[in-house]
Amino acid sequence: MRMDQKQLPRDADGKYPAYAWPGGYPIFYMAADDSVVCSTCANSPDYRTWNEDDIEHILVASDINWESTDLYCDDCGERIESAYADDDDTTEGGVS
Ligand SMILES: [Zn+2]
Repeated sequence: MRMDQKQLPRDADGKYPAYAWPGGYPIFYMAADDSVVCSTCANSPDYRTWNEDDIEHILVASDINWESTDLYCDDCGERIESAYADDDDTTEGGVS
């Protein structure tokens, strides 16, 4: 089986984008071992070097984090920003 890392969208400079435009929605990445990877880690040398024997560092998918407030990068442990849940500190009540 051969996975194709080139399918993931990249910016013009070859970096994995942190946000989807238009809209500025936060993007996160999935590695081949199903771990969640933040955009910062995705752009680190560990992930940008293709090594088929190192599946935890092979990115296979990217997605927008719409509203999960407990999505964390499995590599650095940082919480991954969400498109909506982080944006309504000023709204009353709403989603819990
Ligand atoms: Zn990270």
